[in-house]
Amino acid sequence: MKVVGLTGGIGSGKTTVAGFFKELNIPIYIADEAGKRLMNTSSEIRQEIIALFGEEAYQDTLPDRKFIASKVFNDKDLLSKLNKIIHPAVEKDFKTWLKDQSSEYVIYEAAILFETGGYKKCDFSILVTAPQKLRIDRLQKRDNSSVEEIKERMNNQWNDVKKSQMADFLINNKELAQTKLQVEHIHHQILKAGKNS
Ligand code: ATP
Repeated sequence: MKVVGLTGGIGSGKTTVAGFFKELNIPIYIADEAGKRLMNTSSEIRQEIIALFGEEAYQDTLPDRKFIASKVFNDKDLLSKLNKIIHPAVEKDFKTWLKDQSSEYVIYEAAILFETGGYKKCDFSILVTAPQKLRIDRLQKRDNSSVEEIKERMNNQWNDVKKSQMADFLINNKELAQTKLQVEHIHHQILKAGKNS
């Protein structure tokens, strides 16, 4: 079964695009949600995070996400250490999930795919893009975030030019109807590639 990585900068529309693949009966695995779930449920992860950030990182059994985010925000080394705890656990969880799927391919949605090298484990990669202004407008509406906050988060991610050179497929997510057509086109290309391989 093929694994198709789906990524894009914050507010580009990854989850919206994933929804269109779901309508085509393609199973979706959302890595960021899995990471959050595993932080809540895995005692091994809890121990490793406490070893890295101290007892304050968990309140009872649940992670203090604000505290952890504030620690890693301007500390790339600490962020990379946190990722080294979460990513292998997500990978293991994904492999278990994959065994239960039966379709030509699955979508693996992750906010960072090229940055982590995760795209190398995918058969194809899709990058969702949208003009920065549109992304900011959408995130302001969805999360009530400030423009400064959104821009700061955007600056922590690779830019679209760099990522688009590495992606197999690009989706320009402006009008929803156009986005859906692009998803359908890519879906057929992936199915075709599966038949030819
Ligand atoms: P994040 O990086 O925060 O996980 P994301 O890349 O998954 O975000 P979405 O959650 O899919 O992005 O989209 C962000 C917001 O923009 C959502 O409220 C969504 O409904 C809206 N949105 C996405 N695409 C479009 C579009 N083409 N037209 C209008 N609104 C859109």
